[in-house]
Amino acid sequence: MPHIFCIANQKGGVGKTTTTVNLAAGLAQIGQRVLIVDLDPQGNATMGSGVDKRTLTQTVYDVLLEDASIAEARASSPKGGYDVLGANRELAGAEIELVTLERRDRRLKTAIEAAAADYDFVLIDCPPSLSLLTLNGLTCAHGVIVPMQCEYFALEGLTDLVNTVKQVHANLNPELQLIGLLRVMFDPRITLQQQVSEQLKSHFGDKVFDAVIPRNVRLAEAPSYGVPGVVFDPSSKGAQAFVAFAEELVKRVAPNIKISKSKKKAEKAASSAA
Ligand code: ADP
Ligand code: MG
Repeated sequence: MPHIFCIANQKGGVGKTTTTVNLAAGLAQIGQRVLIVDLDPQGNATMGSGVDKRTLTQTVYDVLLEDASIAEARASSPKGGYDVLGANRELAGAEIELVTLERRDRRLKTAIEAAAADYDFVLIDCPPSLSLLTLNGLTCAHGVIVPMQCEYFALEGLTDLVNTVKQVHANLNPELQLIGLLRVMFDPRITLQQQVSEQLKSHFGDKVFDAVIPRNVRLAEAPSYGVPGVVFDPSSKGAQAFVAFAEELVKRVAPNIKISKSKKKAEKAASSAA
C-alpha cells in the first residue's frame, strides 16, 4: 500500500498546491512512484503539473462517481515525473451529487486501493474547506501534512483542522495521523514570523518539520509554465527547500526506502575514489 497523505489547510492561498506539486516532484526525483489526486475544483495542482484541466476527458470527478478507475482517468505530468488524477470545475458538482450516494465518504479510498500497486506515495491536494471532498481525502489517508504561513491567524485555523483530524480519526479512519506542519513562504526577516515559528515548535514539537520553505519567486512563477518549481529552477532556494522536505518526509515515514539520488551520489563518490 502506498503512503497516502492529504495536504490540507482549510485556508486558501497558504501553499497547499505548491507543497503538493513540489513534494511530488521531489519524491519522484528520489525514485518514488507518485500520484497526485487533485481534490480542488480549481484544478491548480493539475495545471501546475502541466496537465490541461480543460481538455481532460476524465477526472477525479468520474472516479468519485465510479464512472472511471484511476488507471483510466490519470494523466502523467510531462515534466514532473509523476501521475495526476486531475480536477476541473466539474468537481464542484460532485459535492452535491455525492450527498445522496452510498459510501459517499469512501469513494476515493476504494479507487486508490485499486491502483495501490502502481505507487509509493499518493498526495491529495485538498480544497480550502472541510467539505465532503476533503472528508474523502481524510478518510483514505494515513496522514495529514499541513502547510502554513507563520502568521498570527494561522494558529487559530490550526485548532479547527487538528480537531477535524481527531474526529475523522475517531469516527471514520483510525489510521489517520497528523504527520507534520510545514512552514512555508517563510521570511526570517519578519519578527512576527520568527515568533510564530517558535510558538509552533513549542506547541507541536517534533510535528514541525525541520525543512522550511522560504518565500521564493521562482516557486510562484513555475505554475504558469506547468512545471513544478523543483524542476523549473532546481538551483533556486525554494526548489532546494522542497527537495530537502521530500527527503525529510521519506526519512520520517519510510526510513527503509533508499533515496536513489544519494545512492547515485555515493556510487559516484565510490567510483571516483577507486
Ligand atoms: P493554496 O493551494 O493553499 O491555495 P497555493 O499553493 O496555490 O496555495 O499558493 C498561493 C499562492 O502563493 C500561489 O500564487 C503560489 O504560487 C504562491 N506561493 C506558494 N508558495 C510560495 C513560496 N514559497 N514563495 C512564493 N510564492 C509562493
Ligand atoms: Mg490549492
